[in-house]
Amino acid sequence: MTRTTPERPLDIEAVFPALTAHRGTATRLHPRPGSPEVGDSSVGGPFLWPADEPWPMCTAPHDRTSGYRPADVRRQRAILAEAWGRASPQGPTDAERAELASLTPGPHAPHLGERDPVPLVALAQLTAQDVPGLEGPEGCDVLQVLWCPFEAHGPRGNAFDVVLKWRHQADVKDVLASRPEPVVIGRAQGLPDPCVLDPEQVVEHEYIELLDEDLQEAIEEWEEGQEEAADGAVDEAVDGATESVSYPTYEAYEAAMRAAEQHAAPVATYTGDLSIAPGWKVGGFASWHLTGPAPVERCACGTPMSLLLTVTEREWDNGTQSWVPAEDQELIGVKGANIPTAVSPARGTMYVFTCPIDPSHPHRTAFQ
Ligand SMILES: [Zn+2]
Ligand SMILES: [Zn+2]
Repeated sequence: MTRTTPERPLDIEAVFPALTAHRGTATRLHPRPGSPEVGDSSVGGPFLWPADEPWPMCTAPHDRTSGYRPADVRRQRAILAEAWGRASPQGPTDAERAELASLTPGPHAPHLGERDPVPLVALAQLTAQDVPGLEGPEGCDVLQVLWCPFEAHGPRGNAFDVVLKWRHQADVKDVLASRPEPVVIGRAQGLPDPCVLDPEQVVEHEYIELLDEDLQEAIEEWEEGQEEAADGAVDEAVDGATESVSYPTYEAYEAAMRAAEQHAAPVATYTGDLSIAPGWKVGGFASWHLTGPAPVERCACGTPMSLLLTVTEREWDNGTQSWVPAEDQELIGVKGANIPTAVSPARGTMYVFTCPIDPSHPHRTAFQ
């Protein structure tokens, strides 16, 4: 199935020509639940991994005795999907609640020492033929992303640790039949549900706080004007619906008012609709909505790093609905439909930056 991002509600470069200098291309990955095969681009799917190559392990010192058993996490998700997928969902039954209560995290791996190797979790596999804009080291045409499923890394000991493996697909002759899995994972949202991808390129514009101050202020002023115009349109629509009309009850009056409000055109905002696409993507820009912009990291070779991959919980939310693909419009508001991978790093998003000169130079991560 293809996925098509609707046209942006307006051409922001026509309003602010200076933005053409801050335009970028992102490839939205559009992960959706499915059954990816070994050579496919996927989130949480099987990897094209050589049978004779050791699977990457985390040996960094941190506790790995306590957490969720992967099988429990999958069972938990299956129960909830079943419960909320029924014709008239009432949530889990008593029997389901009892089973859910038994699938709790705990000290399920007391035998593991602080440096015992823990298999990394296969997060995503992206091939150059599926994902336009995916550029790796010379001779490589597939990127495999793995992470340690304990948020116990980084300078504050609270981040997932990511391993990137670039390789050449044709070099993999015998594929590893089944990958090792950790006994427990530190956070349930570290375990992806298998998703197929449907990559699509879109135009983005730089995060607002990284634009020149003048441009930033002009956009903010324009947004205020947009909002005022929209409020005016709502008032007018409500007046039109309620003036010189008499309603039999106050409830009927209120209902007419709500209908009129919904009819007024929604306002397009720079942040929500015109700059950065939500969801998993390759390339494009990072959104620094929680912390403000992080300093542009430089690679050890001196080159400013560029955004390789965005791993994020939500494919859309209330503020970014205009990005929902045409094919998914009926899923807006469906419980869980905007969280297809079940993954959520940090407070929702992980950015992986790499060196544009040589992607084999060490990467950096940032979290939002
Ligand atoms: Zn680890
Ligand atoms: Zn470099």
